[in-house]
Amino acid sequence: MHTFDPVNFRGQFEFFLQNPGWVYLDNAATMHKPRAVVSAVNDFYQRSNSNVHRGAHNLSQHATRLFEQARDDIAAFINAKERQQIIFCSGATAALNQIAYGLMHTVLQPGDRVLITALEHHANIVPWHLHCVRFGVQLDVVPLTNDYQVDQTAFAQLLEKKPKVVSFSHVSNVLGHVQPVAEMVQLAKNAGAITVIDGAQGIVHEKLDVQALDADFYVWSSHKLYGPTGTGVLYGKTALLEQLTPIYGGGEMISEVQFSHSLFNILPFRLEAGTPDIAGVIGMAAAVNWLQKFNIDEIKEYKAMLLKQFFSGLSQIPGLDILSSPVHNAGIVTLNVQGEHPADVAELLSQQAVAVRGGQHCAMPLFNQLKLAGAVRFSFAPYNTEADVATSLHALTQAVEILTA
Ligand code: PMP
Repeated sequence: MHTFDPVNFRGQFEFFLQNPGWVYLDNAATMHKPRAVVSAVNDFYQRSNSNVHRGAHNLSQHATRLFEQARDDIAAFINAKERQQIIFCSGATAALNQIAYGLMHTVLQPGDRVLITALEHHANIVPWHLHCVRFGVQLDVVPLTNDYQVDQTAFAQLLEKKPKVVSFSHVSNVLGHVQPVAEMVQLAKNAGAITVIDGAQGIVHEKLDVQALDADFYVWSSHKLYGPTGTGVLYGKTALLEQLTPIYGGGEMISEVQFSHSLFNILPFRLEAGTPDIAGVIGMAAAVNWLQKFNIDEIKEYKAMLLKQFFSGLSQIPGLDILSSPVHNAGIVTLNVQGEHPADVAELLSQQAVAVRGGQHCAMPLFNQLKLAGAVRFSFAPYNTEADVATSLHALTQAVEILTA
């Protein structure tokens, strides 16, 4: 029996009550927040505001309990074995920087190889440049097939070069394509590599079980999963987290400090220097607790239905170059109006209250390979409606007519 009610789901978001005119299809950039999240953040500041892990006073102890409960909730949400495997950080970018920096000189040595794919977000390219390539690590890139999928034959071949680390996105933020992440993790592990999954778009798409997936690291940003901006998670296997050199030093992450040296704290604190975004973390846990009240598989089916309708409508609009495939797609469609700049298309859609993103979506190397200036991205969430699909298709038709008149 289906229990997912899209009207009830959308009704949880104050934004749509206040702004009924907006067709918001920029969910891959950031999602709207349900009332449960806004209230959790608000409640913390109004009733419990205090620093964590510090004060002897009851208020600080209460804030610490809420903060550490959030860690338990998130560990349970992804089925992590131990709570210390959940490192709070500001998002996927911070987590990937911590991993690249932290592995350098402990696990990675000059001359070692790191393997990524051709469709990575800058957040899974630049940290490797910044922290590893400039110390002599070689970055190899798995190319794409003609239909913009990660070339699995080339992946297997590049694994023969014995990369120490294989780092790739679960879902492409540009194309929406879902990688065969479990198979790729197993192949990489068989080749002896440490696996890093950029789950910024992936965790939104399907239920994550980190023990079943067995990747060494999995990272995401809360703001793409109904939570606040400025918070996110670095999940890792304990033995590897212990080997990461902390990217930040300061309060909380130490057990002893002398002017001559410092000793680091135990996990998770050794990788969480300074005052964290306490309210943000509490909001992040409120988001996943709220989400679990719904059937995640049914949410996925509903989104797939919207996507099918959208693709079907696109096939009726002439003059489009559609880059995304409808197969194994997490709800992102990227396209161009032939001969037109994506920024112009996005602007015309915005004038009709359809929010999409035009540009290179933080994936410049991918667009260089495609020899495109950019593309227009429509990204769907479960609070979108069939009416949103119809309105956005109508708006796109109008935009094409204006641009090609
Ligand atoms: N990886 C992917 C696949 C993304 O889509 C994004 C956000 N666009 C990031 C990493 C970076 O996330 P954030 O900016 O929240 O750190």
